[in-house]
Amino acid sequence: MQEKPIKRFKVKPTFQILLITLLIFSLLGSCSSSSTPESYVGYGADHCVSGSLHIITLDGDKIILDAGSFYGEDGKSFPQIDQKTLTDVSAIIISHAHIDHIGRLITSVVKMGYKGPIYCTGPTKELMPTMLKMASKYGDFGKETFFFSKRSQDENRSSGKNTAAHLYADCPYGSQISPKNKKYIICSSPDLEDLGYYFCSACAQKEANEVMKQVIQQPLHLPFQISKNVTAEFLLTPHLPGSVMVLLKGEVSGHKILYTGDVGSGLSPFLPSQDPPQSADVVITEATYGTSTCDIEELKAQRENFRIKLGELVQNGKRIIIPAFVLDRSQQILYEINQGKLKGEIPQDTPIKVFGNSVEELNEIYLDFSNSTEYSPYFSAGFLENGPFPHDSYLSITGTTLSKLFDDPEERRRSISYGEIGICSSGMADNSLSLEFVKQWISDPDTVFIFVGYQDPETIGGELVEGLEKGTHTPSSIIIDGNSYQIKADILKYNCFSGHAEFNQITNFLHGVDGLKTILIVHTDQENVDPLIQAYKKEFPSINIVAPQAGQLIALP
Ligand SMILES: [Zn+2]
Ligand SMILES: [Zn+2]
Ligand SMILES: [Zn+2]
Repeated sequence: MQEKPIKRFKVKPTFQILLITLLIFSLLGSCSSSSTPESYVGYGADHCVSGSLHIITLDGDKIILDAGSFYGEDGKSFPQIDQKTLTDVSAIIISHAHIDHIGRLITSVVKMGYKGPIYCTGPTKELMPTMLKMASKYGDFGKETFFFSKRSQDENRSSGKNTAAHLYADCPYGSQISPKNKKYIICSSPDLEDLGYYFCSACAQKEANEVMKQVIQQPLHLPFQISKNVTAEFLLTPHLPGSVMVLLKGEVSGHKILYTGDVGSGLSPFLPSQDPPQSADVVITEATYGTSTCDIEELKAQRENFRIKLGELVQNGKRIIIPAFVLDRSQQILYEINQGKLKGEIPQDTPIKVFGNSVEELNEIYLDFSNSTEYSPYFSAGFLENGPFPHDSYLSITGTTLSKLFDDPEERRRSISYGEIGICSSGMADNSLSLEFVKQWISDPDTVFIFVGYQDPETIGGELVEGLEKGTHTPSSIIIDGNSYQIKADILKYNCFSGHAEFNQITNFLHGVDGLKTILIVHTDQENVDPLIQAYKKEFPSINIVAPQAGQLIALP
């Protein structure tokens, strides 16, 4: 009998503990499902192409996918990322080194003090310092307090030059300015030029270095832990050296989210083919080209036409100017020119000039890539065997020689002769040396401008190619900085260098993703959104299709 109370005594607390434990677990369960559901919020690239920055909540952990800059007015409808949001983030993952995918690392790390890890592939890590420096130099980070030397400004003004504006007291140049001579200006970085300044390169370098301290490279095809409950895995997509798709997996729920980053077109001779799809519950896909389709094999064949045309123009004694993006486009142009010379399509002795400091840094990185065994999985067999182009196949114009071209119109006029090919930036001729070359030679009937990338309709390049794109005529004149220029130079455009997959390539890939329940469409212009939703609903009738709005919280299944 005595055993009974003892037994009861033993049973009761066990039962109570069980009850309490059940209660705690059910409370915890309801907490995690109500306050931290799986979700997506876009801080960029929703209903626009630029500014990719997606915040994912998976199994209670917050992850940022890409942290890119906006182009033009794209960013105006998005919420600013705040300190609290950044503090909650466990990791930032970068898909590739384009500025519209990495530029806001400067904001997150340098301006807002994000201290967590930034993951990317090895080649992306190699390309990032040059690209971050450009993002720092040309990005808009709101109003900031710059300082400059009053004495330098007085000297520069008399010779019509701009003056260096610094942000950091420990800048090797800025630190030499005496307190008496030091003056301040409050403005945003893009306004500096109009006010007679330029952002100091050493200060930009410092910002890039700050970000790089937190960058950690990870290999392809090997899941790695990025937070308490989430792992990530990189799948190769042939968009840029080192570009990847990112597969996130919640280790508690088992849910998978695949972020495509920018999907490669397969046109680059430097890169291998797309990795096969994997299973995922949600895909966040880019859709730069909307619903338009094209024949990739035909585009590959167009590269031969490009080389033959260049050869003809050189032989006809034309001055050829190719505005090209510094990362990847310039290198692919150099590759095709070198191929053209090898195949006898372009005269062997044609002088090739490449203008720019950043592009030369990137050319050297590409040459190093071709000698790297560590990075061989990211490149095509042809690239590893033959390299992109010989380093002595072009003349690099950098440093003070380059600066002189900006300051001295006479030097600029002599910089590209008839029968020579010049590669310069920006790719849309809306700033830098490309713009100066347009102003200088757009009225010369023996000059040819060849555009080799997408041209925003609001840029100089966009205005110049509009007639070609619409099958009408090139306008007879163009207004730049309030001055009208007669258009007498020839304007050509080639689409065979595109780095983005078209509609069919992307949807074919998505058909291979098992278990897919939701597709989020991002990285596309506003006018593409409705046609894309219709086309995707037709392609994937049983899948939830969403094109998130700026800042809209999307609960994920
Ligand atoms: Zn890209
Ligand atoms: Zn400085
Ligand atoms: Zn992009």
